[in-house]
Amino acid sequence: MAPGVLIDDNMSRDSLQLEETSDNIDKVNVLKDQLKQQQQEGWDSASRFDTEKDKSKFRQYTEACDRVKNFYLEQHTKQTVAYNLKARHAFRFQKRDEMTIWEAIEKLNTLIDESDPDTELSQIQHLLQSAEAIRRDGKPRWMQLTGLIHDLGKLLYFYGSEGQWDVVGDTFPVGCAFDEKSIIYPGSFSLNPDTKDPVYSSKYGIYSPGCGLDNVMLSWGHDEYLYHVVKDQSLLPDEALAMIRYHSFYPWHKEGGYREFMNEHDETMLEAVRAFNPYDLYSKSDGLPDVEELKPYYLELIDEFFPQKVIRW
Ligand code: FE
Ligand code: FE
Repeated sequence: MAPGVLIDDNMSRDSLQLEETSDNIDKVNVLKDQLKQQQQEGWDSASRFDTEKDKSKFRQYTEACDRVKNFYLEQHTKQTVAYNLKARHAFRFQKRDEMTIWEAIEKLNTLIDESDPDTELSQIQHLLQSAEAIRRDGKPRWMQLTGLIHDLGKLLYFYGSEGQWDVVGDTFPVGCAFDEKSIIYPGSFSLNPDTKDPVYSSKYGIYSPGCGLDNVMLSWGHDEYLYHVVKDQSLLPDEALAMIRYHSFYPWHKEGGYREFMNEHDETMLEAVRAFNPYDLYSKSDGLPDVEELKPYYLELIDEFFPQKVIRW
């Protein structure tokens, strides 16, 4: 099948579909996390907020898995080195919107306001739930803010993404062999032209062992985009930037792949990303946050780490 016909282009620009795909991807990641927890008891001792939760509630995933599989077929076919260079070039040189973090949250929220009311949670609710769970566990203020903003990169949907495949979904390095043991759906890269490239298909590809993940190009999507937006425009610490950049890098933080590229700094970053992950995956069943009530607290928090207030997106 040609890559272009995997998902109809008009459909892929539909915001409801993006929302649904994103939700289904999360469901699949929750499922994988649960399977792992059953296999090796007791790793996630860091987070306490979710210990009371009945994780079996997250088990309506069969349908999600089917839809997500088609999504990943398209993503794994189209995320190439060439596409990633093009996306980064566009990010650097195209004219960018300017707005505050809160305005960005409200803009992202229109993604669901325009779409089906049945879709489970609005973006603002997911962001506030993540932040509130982190806050309830007494974690630092910068981490609370990271919870609040971690998915703002989905604004890419408004800023020139080609479909869903370059906004959401798990991420992985391009420019070296795809580690099919740690990436979801083995075999799904067969139509990706980089698998035929002698350099890009080699184990280290364009990188070298221990080069550090800062030097590795991760597939373009909402994580990578937001990381590039905030790294020069905020006072957030490295751990926060890692939580943003790697939160969808499941092949690394969950499956243990791509360790050969890590340097010492990445070991600390890995711990940070793992500490963040439960707040993203498991805060979705928390009660609905009261946006207006919480807004003053978070506006102050935003000002603390984004003192110039207006950000280029
Ligand atoms: Fe995300
Ligand atoms: Fe999220």
